[in-house]
Amino acid sequence: MKPIEEIKPLLESPKKVVITMHQKPDADAMGSSLALYHYLIQKGHQVAVISPTNFPDFLKWMPGADQVLDFESMQEKALGALQGIDLLFCLDFNALYRTKNMQPYLEQLRCVKILIDHHLEPQPDFDYGISDTAASSTAQLVYETLYKLGEEQYITNEIAQCIYAGTMTDTGSFRFASTSARVHRMVADLLERGLKHELIHQAIYDNFLENRLRFIGHSLLHRMEVFYEYNTAMMAIPYADLKRFDLQTGDTEGLVNFLLSIQGIKMAALIIDRREEIKLSFRSKGDFDVNTFARRYFEGGGHFNASGGRSTDTLDKTVQRFIKAVQENEELLQ
Ligand code: 5GP
Ligand code: MN
Repeated sequence: MKPIEEIKPLLESPKKVVITMHQKPDADAMGSSLALYHYLIQKGHQVAVISPTNFPDFLKWMPGADQVLDFESMQEKALGALQGIDLLFCLDFNALYRTKNMQPYLEQLRCVKILIDHHLEPQPDFDYGISDTAASSTAQLVYETLYKLGEEQYITNEIAQCIYAGTMTDTGSFRFASTSARVHRMVADLLERGLKHELIHQAIYDNFLENRLRFIGHSLLHRMEVFYEYNTAMMAIPYADLKRFDLQTGDTEGLVNFLLSIQGIKMAALIIDRREEIKLSFRSKGDFDVNTFARRYFEGGGHFNASGGRSTDTLDKTVQRFIKAVQENEELLQ
């Protein structure tokens, strides 16, 4: 994979471009993709942003979100946008299976493929890119890419908003270990460019519907289990809960972090029965590596302290497998 700054000559004449991200995109996937989108359209390229699935309502305020094609509900339009493209940008993921139903179509493309990502262990099939696991967020990597290309004059307020949203959420509002001096320097630059950061915080975190908060309360009261002997906390959410509280895409985001706030807990797991599959989210504090854990037991991956996986077993069976996996990791969890 050649360094990202070497794409500069490719961007000197108008190109047909698609930007895509992982399924059920979060604020970093969406924010980084839309930041790049706003840059590329200023440069005169023809750009489509495709999300493999729908995305949370609390990201709809993002400038350009109304232009995003949902591959599940707008497949024909999205496939049209993929026809004859020159460049494909893959943002905030590094393995094509994370694009769900788009995967076979992306594999067939013969265009130049560019990766911008911060997850561990990237797939090797990209022509250009940056894979920086020390970066706070993919949004930050888009910001830094604009500087590397000498194009920072294109950072509009729209771009600043998208970048800030992705970095704020991926750093847990600037508290995780990934919140380096580099992050704060970027944020200072964005603020000097006129960004109103409190509005972005409000749009994402002070925008719940009542049922979402009641679901969180219900889950903490009835679905949480703490295994003090393994310094692990878990929540298993049955499909019936998602129905009862009328949960929408994104409504379970952040729930796993509550578990990690319990004194002494090193690993937290949120296991949700989404019916089409069981989705698992893992978080850790300190030196327990949940990327390896997710890869080894649940066909997943991600970061050292935040990862995800899936299971096709029932919820009960998945919970049993999780507990067994925790027991196998007893020493590492001490
Ligand atoms: P979340 O628990 O918020 O869904 O995901 C936590 C982190 O792990 C995110 O950075 C996400 O992109 C990544 N992740 C989630 N699920 C998977 C997965 O199935 N495979 C891989 N490689 N990464 C995942
Ligand atoms: Mn990210």
